[in-house]
Amino acid sequence: MTLKFSKRVEGIEISGIRKIFEAAGPGSINLGLGQPDFDTPQHIKDAAIKAIQEGKTGYTTNNGLPELRAAISRKFKNENGIKYHPDQMIVTAGASEALHIVMQALLDPGDRVLCPDPGFVSYASLATIAGGTPVSVPLTKTLHIDVEAAKNLMDMAKLMVINSPGNPTGAVESKESIKALVEYAADKNVTIVSDEVYEHFIYGKKHYSAAAFGDNVITINATSKTYAMTGWRLGYLAASPEIVGQCLKVHQYCQACATSIAQYAAVAAYEGDQSAVGMMRDEYEVRRDLIWSGLKNLGFDFPKPEGAFYTFVPMKPDLTQKIIASGVIVVPGSAFGVNAPEYTRFSYANSRENINTALERIGKLVE
Ligand code: PLP
Repeated sequence: MTLKFSKRVEGIEISGIRKIFEAAGPGSINLGLGQPDFDTPQHIKDAAIKAIQEGKTGYTTNNGLPELRAAISRKFKNENGIKYHPDQMIVTAGASEALHIVMQALLDPGDRVLCPDPGFVSYASLATIAGGTPVSVPLTKTLHIDVEAAKNLMDMAKLMVINSPGNPTGAVESKESIKALVEYAADKNVTIVSDEVYEHFIYGKKHYSAAAFGDNVITINATSKTYAMTGWRLGYLAASPEIVGQCLKVHQYCQACATSIAQYAAVAAYEGDQSAVGMMRDEYEVRRDLIWSGLKNLGFDFPKPEGAFYTFVPMKPDLTQKIIASGVIVVPGSAFGVNAPEYTRFSYANSRENINTALERIGKLVE
């Protein structure tokens, strides 16, 4: 028998990042990871344990527990200054599922999706899996979205993804850029997908939610990075009732509901003590300074990252390969699109000690 697969899926690659992790040997320092190295705060774990003990282990409503959606609605009001009624949300299996169901619900074959390039690996692949056509939006020299270039591409587009703070760049978009993109997109009938999973990890600038500037926005977020909960698989989207209604059909059939236990944990995350988030932010900032000044002292010249936990460093691919061979796992820019083959992503979601050791190893390569 000859197996035949869909062209949509055959045409996409397994994430380049995963391949590198698989190649990591013992003694490697992993600066490739896109996840916090912190543990989930205890009160969140306790809420999950309590949910299990109380037998809250069945399906929940498809769109998520009412008390969780109410908590997220309060979070949007207090932290982002935006109004989303609890019925304007779907709780999903991480931001990843939210991105997936949005693409499935909004795209017809060939519909164009503007994706920042370099950008988070999933956007273009999920657009392709949904039958859409990803289109690269270039970044400026400072690694921010090139607003004029994005506007020029909007005529033919259906969706545009904004990701601030950005992966892999660490760039935080300004209020002016986000507002300009949302307003221009509204004129062109383009829906903005705003991925805000790193909103709490910003060092000196301010986070602006795209939904503050127009109704043509789908906001995507998750507990994953904010509360060091990547493995719990808990995210959400918030949008107009029309969009939520269509996305809910996809969610219902592919997921039914997010994990009940993770949902109870997420209520504790949003309603409980927020001090762990501040602690993680402060520690990431120290590490950001450490890795940025360390690499600068070694002769690499690049803008200081403003958010998330990544530095995106201009570097020839052969040096990237030497760094990986020396046991420092980093991700080549080619994993994030076509526009940044001569860059490398370093994650600083790792201890200061490991970052220092990594810098020493890289120092020996560039001496
Ligand atoms: N969006 C961005 C920009 C990310 O970097 C990631 C994970 O690395 C995700 C979404 C996926 O988040 P989740 O783990 O909640 O699916």
